[in-house]
Amino acid sequence: MNKLESDSESFGGVVYECVRCATLVTNEDLAALPEIKCICGYRILKKRRPSIVKQVKSI
Ligand SMILES: [Zn+2]
Repeated sequence: MNKLESDSESFGGVVYECVRCATLVTNEDLAALPEIKCICGYRILKKRRPSIVKQVKSI
């Protein structure tokens, strides 16, 4: 997991999360695939930025 995180940093730290199985897919993983989809075959991915932590507070 640590290795994946350091790898994703060189790609801008963009990570996608499958909405079906919650598997994290890095840009590097997507680059090796002919199309954007999860390893489970599901194509709907949410974009995540694990290197940037935002706190949302209601004032
Ligand atoms: Zn999936």
